[in-house]
Amino acid sequence: MAARRRKNVHPIDTRSLREAAARLRRGELVAFPTETVYGLGANALDEKAVAKIFAAKGRPSDNPIIVHVSDRRMLRRVVKSVPAAAEALMRKFWPGPLTLVLSKRSSVPSLVTAGLSTVAVRMPEGIARDLVRLAGVPIAAPSANVSGRPSPTTAAHVAEDFPDVFVLDGGPTAHGVESTVVALEPRLVILRQGAVTEEQLRKILPRVRGAGAPRRTRRGAPAPPASPGTKYTHYAPTRPLILFLRESSLVAYAKAHPKALVLCPTGLSFLFPKQRILALGDTPKEIAHGLFAALRTRRRGSELLALAVPRRGLGRTIMDRLERAATRIV
Ligand code: AMP
Ligand code: MG
Repeated sequence: MAARRRKNVHPIDTRSLREAAARLRRGELVAFPTETVYGLGANALDEKAVAKIFAAKGRPSDNPIIVHVSDRRMLRRVVKSVPAAAEALMRKFWPGPLTLVLSKRSSVPSLVTAGLSTVAVRMPEGIARDLVRLAGVPIAAPSANVSGRPSPTTAAHVAEDFPDVFVLDGGPTAHGVESTVVALEPRLVILRQGAVTEEQLRKILPRVRGAGAPRRTRRGAPAPPASPGTKYTHYAPTRPLILFLRESSLVAYAKAHPKALVLCPTGLSFLFPKQRILALGDTPKEIAHGLFAALRTRRRGSELLALAVPRRGLGRTIMDRLERAATRIV
């Protein structure tokens, strides 16, 4: 198994990039690093290729996939028009970890967009953009994990979930959390918190807001979500995760459960002198960077205990992922 994994993991050089691009053009799947997490890509204009993504991930067919473009010309092949607000965001954040939901052209198979008339698009930075440019076609790519597992931030995570897929290894990804998804119409709203913060977006568009907690109808049933993917519980860690909203309750619980593994800011390690600890760093940027790897940890410990972070800046994204990963929030 380990040998098979290594065989399909390729350090990035001109040759492996060319091979990856050729595979994408042939309708095959390729996993590659982006600045957010690793993606599992296929030619977005080839329905059969896109179907392989859904099959490999076990992804529900009502969860649309983000399309990656290398330049504005490629963007025009997939979207009908670019409203002024989207233009302003692209100028500031592209290439980068911001996804925009725009009206789609008919050339984009409805499988990609789960039947919606809109398509989510982004222009990634670095290697991912080079690969899309080399492939010469827009690339549909969700995160390269089996549906429901934490997103992969290293090539080894990808190989764990997909030992038979060709993986480009670019080392650990820069942000460690997925792109921010913004819809422009019918109203300007953040559908998914991500690597670009609400505060950063507001400097360009002061009216932009987060979609907030899933809305509930009067009878308590969840209202239909604006962004289909956000309704799924995600990021199931290797064992139960308890998210603590208060430091004091985490400390008390940890004392009573000495075998639990504590995911905590490095600066708080001193609170758990007798405990196994997985230090996540101290700034929100460091915590985001190591979060998904921590959820995939193979270290010993009965359960994972995590502490809430303040909901501002990247903290909103970290809390969204922790809440989705948590078995219990106390
Ligand atoms: P993933 O590909 O797993 O990173 O998830 C992509 C996210 O973008 C999911 O939350 C999707 O629901 C969302 N998304 C993709 N396409 C659309 C779209 N056309 N409209 C609204 N949300 C979308
Ligand atoms: Mg995903």
